[in-house]
Amino acid sequence: MIVAPLGSGSAGNSYYFESDGTSILVDAGLGPRETRKRLELVGHNIERVQALVITHEHYDHIRGAERLARKYGMPIYLTRGTLNASSIDRAETNVVVFENNTTFQIGELNIHARRTLHDAADPSCLVVESRDGTRVGLASDLGHADDGVVDHLSDCDGLFFEANHDLDMLRMGTYPWSLKRRIMSRFGHLSNDDAMFAVQRMMGADLKTLCLIHLSEKNNHESIVRDLATRLFQRNGVQLELGIAKQFEPTGVFEIKRRGATRRAVMPSGSQMALF
Ligand SMILES: [Zn+2]
Ligand SMILES: [Zn+2]
Repeated sequence: MIVAPLGSGSAGNSYYFESDGTSILVDAGLGPRETRKRLELVGHNIERVQALVITHEHYDHIRGAERLARKYGMPIYLTRGTLNASSIDRAETNVVVFENNTTFQIGELNIHARRTLHDAADPSCLVVESRDGTRVGLASDLGHADDGVVDHLSDCDGLFFEANHDLDMLRMGTYPWSLKRRIMSRFGHLSNDDAMFAVQRMMGADLKTLCLIHLSEKNNHESIVRDLATRLFQRNGVQLELGIAKQFEPTGVFEIKRRGATRRAVMPSGSQMALF
């Protein structure tokens, strides 16, 4: 599976996923022109994107959704709560409602959605699973990584997970107290320390790639997150590919392959099922 973060953070989120001929975008925090441009920079074509999945209605995740859907004719997948809290015009777009804590399909991809704790109507984190069982988790905008989310994102081959802020930088920074309190609450964003603690719990034997996402521009720094993740890997005796997602340019292309043994029996292509 190919995953390309096109932009990540409070100025706009967008992630490209592709496997077995199915391409989707998760979140639409960039406008159509910028999304197309950044996709081209990583060698992919927006015309091939079959669907857009929105995790929640905050501006940095949904701002470009309706324009992308109209311009490129892609359906928008989102929860009922996200739809109702958004200004998406149902008459003008093809909207597909999914429920959290269920699995739905887009082309060859299975998408497992799980509700998260965040100050939005019905926010989701996702595991995107390809036909061969490769699993990639994506979760940002978490006030708290509760057991349900940790469980949901365990056993992934790739993990794109929020490390939003350094707690001291946030405390000492210039944000108004009300905003600091919101970010630190159980419905805000994950601190670096909380992120590392959660990643430690989610790290399974199959994990090959960890990319930390949605870093705060004011209250975090790539070098802090890189150091923390490197120490986490050392403590656990693992060598993983590490990415730190960028806000204003694509982070690159991650190619994530299933490392573990076959998780489930997969029908060889071309074989026929005998019907009795
Ligand atoms: Zn966000
Ligand atoms: Zn949010």
